[in-house]
Amino acid sequence: MSAIDRRPQPCSRAGSESAPISRRTLFPAAAGALAAVMAFCASGPVEAQSKTDKKAAKYQDHPNNGQSCSQCRYFLAPKSCQLVAGDVSPTGWCSFFLKKT
Ligand code: SF4
Repeated sequence: MSAIDRRPQPCSRAGSESAPISRRTLFPAAAGALAAVMAFCASGPVEAQSKTDKKAAKYQDHPNNGQSCSQCRYFLAPKSCQLVAGDVSPTGWCSFFLKKT
């Protein structure tokens, strides 16, 4: 059986005077990178869920044949919509209108 030296060895690059990387140095950096990845993954799906822009939804800031956002099931008072991006007016309307039941 051969004897293997398992003691930590310094990095040896020709011409380099860098110090060996210790676990104490490496662990916080790895933990920081892991936290950044977890934060990105946690926020990714929520942020990626995009709303339709007003133009594509044919949004207008006035009612259409008596229909308005305040009567729509997708309206979120005071001025948001579950489907359309940006502020919407309670008196607005778009092609996704669906009357509240
Ligand atoms: S009418 Fe369109 S913009 Fe207004 S709340 Fe409904 S889906 Fe949103």
